[in-house]
Amino acid sequence: MGCENGLKLKLKYPFSLDNQSGPAYLKVATPPSVTAGFTLRPGGSSCGPFAFANMSFQVGDQDEMVTRNRRALLQSAGANFFPSLVTARQVHGNRCLTVTDRDPEKLAQLAQIEADALLTDQPGILLGVMTADCLPLIMIGRNRRVAAVVHVGWRGLEQSIGTVAVTELLRRFAVEVETLQVYAGPAIGSCCFQVGSEVVDCFRRHSVLDGVEGWYQERPSGYYIDLLSIQRAQLLAAGVAKENFHVVDICTHCHDFCFSYRRDHAITGRQLAFVGIKTT
Ligand SMILES: [Zn+2]
Repeated sequence: MGCENGLKLKLKYPFSLDNQSGPAYLKVATPPSVTAGFTLRPGGSSCGPFAFANMSFQVGDQDEMVTRNRRALLQSAGANFFPSLVTARQVHGNRCLTVTDRDPEKLAQLAQIEADALLTDQPGILLGVMTADCLPLIMIGRNRRVAAVVHVGWRGLEQSIGTVAVTELLRRFAVEVETLQVYAGPAIGSCCFQVGSEVVDCFRRHSVLDGVEGWYQERPSGYYIDLLSIQRAQLLAAGVAKENFHVVDICTHCHDFCFSYRRDHAITGRQLAFVGIKTT
């Protein structure tokens, strides 16, 4: 799974695989002014449990390798449009950070700020969240040039972080919710996401799930929840159009071309969901 990786995937529009150079990623079909995608494991420089395209500095990988992987991604995403990648300190909360200042020093400092969603209406800022089982979301306003990335674990979902991000896009940037496109990347599927009964009880209190089929299953081995159907129900309740919620539907735990925190017993790399508005 080096740079010459032979990864092949059958994907439906708006997703396609780009593994020509650098980290392989699921490219999202967007308007020409926007770039967006979800990186996978193949096509990077990291070794051991972080092989190959680990995107996180916080998991024990060598900084030099992460820098190399991120740089290679910037090259394929259009480095000339995006001088750097902006990430925050993800804490499984529901705080959204709006990024409008393009000063490189200030952007670098955001890596220390606690937030699980990043929003912008400024060209030249590439936003990212890192995941390895949690659900990454990319949001793009079609009529207004705005973009967001969201890190959704079950705790963030419990705090409705996706809805909080939508509300913030509407409030800050006057996005029309019916034009908002939401893309859901690889995450642990309901096939594999076993949880305690207390997690199911948490979500039972969410009225948006009343009448929603299959958001959890009880099997002989225990309870399983479906992050995607819970997320879908929350977003539709927030006004996102059903046809504008796009799901790649790849389980990170089932596929070794993804990092999976559970499968790899916590010692693993991170995928990156990224979105940016290009400078013209
Ligand atoms: Zn699975």
